[in-house]
Amino acid sequence: MPKPIWVVGGGLAGSEAAWQIANAGREVILYEMRPLRNTPAHTSSFLAELVCSNSLKANNLENASGLLKEELRRLDSLLMAVAEETKVPAGGALAVDRQRFAQGVTTRINQHPRIKVIRAEVTSIPPDQPAVIASGPLTSPLFSAWLQELFGEEYFYFYDAVAPIVTRESLDREGIFAASRYGRGEAEYLNCPFNEEEYTRFWENLVTAETHQSHLGAAEKRYFEGCMPVEVLAARGKDTLRFGPLKPVGLIDPATGKQPYAVVQLRPENKERTLYNLVGFQTNLRWGEQARVFRLIPGLSRAEFVRYGVMHRNSFINSPKLLDLSLQWKGGRPLFFAGQLIGVEGYVESTAAGWVAGKNILRQQEGKPPLIFPRETAIGALINHIINAEIRHFQPMNINFGLFPPLKEKIKGKLKKNRAIADRALITLENFIVETLN
Ligand SMILES: Cc1cc2nc3c(=O)[nH]c(=O)nc-3n(C[C@H](O)[C@H](O)[C@H](O)COP(=O)(O)OP(=O)(O)OC[C@H]3O[C@@H](n4cnc5c(N)ncnc54)[C@H](O)[C@@H]3O)c2cc1C
Repeated sequence: MPKPIWVVGGGLAGSEAAWQIANAGREVILYEMRPLRNTPAHTSSFLAELVCSNSLKANNLENASGLLKEELRRLDSLLMAVAEETKVPAGGALAVDRQRFAQGVTTRINQHPRIKVIRAEVTSIPPDQPAVIASGPLTSPLFSAWLQELFGEEYFYFYDAVAPIVTRESLDREGIFAASRYGRGEAEYLNCPFNEEEYTRFWENLVTAETHQSHLGAAEKRYFEGCMPVEVLAARGKDTLRFGPLKPVGLIDPATGKQPYAVVQLRPENKERTLYNLVGFQTNLRWGEQARVFRLIPGLSRAEFVRYGVMHRNSFINSPKLLDLSLQWKGGRPLFFAGQLIGVEGYVESTAAGWVAGKNILRQQEGKPPLIFPRETAIGALINHIINAEIRHFQPMNINFGLFPPLKEKIKGKLKKNRAIADRALITLENFIVETLN
């Protein structure tokens, strides 16, 4: 009899993975360290505990998160089924009664005849043991140390210091110019030039904007000295940013033929250059404040933020370096990874990664080719981004329409365009299911 597959971590990704493996007929041992060892954010011993908001975000197909949920429903996701059973009124969003949701998942997993739940901390995995690793953003220190040893320290991160990401199509391209500093290399940056008046207004708004209460303790904050929030740098003096991340040296604005007073640089976030991040803008500002203040940057007045800047504790691995598109580690052992640990962000994104890793470990064990989702689907777009992102600047990502291949036809209006991408995704998914899963 083949040995049971281990799943490490009974969070969102681990619960979904365990369910998919067991439902397909294979024995699973699901290790969850709570309540013996707790994390700084979980408060119960339930599996699939939602650590913060009870919202699984938008439910409509004009929203990329709504599309991802619909794909998971069509793939018989356990967590989507329980979310449906435990939902509470939340307008266009899918929100759940968090207690009933976690309880529902825990009961289903506990009652599954092929899943054995062991409440213990995993600190290492034996060499030939097939396992899905889904220990989440708050992976225990001992297991983190083991993973670091397996991969090399440089590919395992403890913190997320993400600058906001905007879509290229929402930029006001007049006034923005493409150039690299001193004209070196390809003109890969988009540069947003300030005059003195614009800069002063921006700076005044930045230093008075409201910030989040940070989740980080004092020791963790010290860790960040080399990676200051933009508002903290700005508070040191009016010119600090102009001599730091907003320095204009080596950049000439073609519209004026001069060096601007200050410059915000936008760096491509993906190979298709549909998404750009604001270089040096890691921040603790509240999301609404980020939208208000950063839209004062020339060229960003209508910017669509697909992700706001955050700085919080978050363990994740360098997936573009370490994993393949099936979510298996490239290092030659039957280890698959899922959830926030691979650099997806959010409850539903983590669940989707759990589904994929669960199905693929089973296929790998059975000698079948892996399921590689087409990029036109939300699951495929997300995993493709994570695996093909630039190794050097890898940062977590949530699902958004900027990750999908462009439509062949031009469609006017954002909602209509999003809906067309969603319709294409669902048709592609249905074909994929027929071709690979039936
Ligand atoms: C403070 C905080 C707030 C957040 N708020 C939100 C939010 O509002 N909305 C949102 O979409 N996302 C939020 N996130 C992100 C959220 O954590 C993920 O979306 C989601 O929980 C990740 O799912 P996961 O399965 O990867 O990890 P988790 O759900 O965290 O599950 C991992 C599990 O592994 C267990 N574990 C860890 N190490 C071991 C070990 N060595 N052995 C055995 N078990 C282990 C943990 O106890 C945990 O149960 C937040 C994250 C944090 C840290």
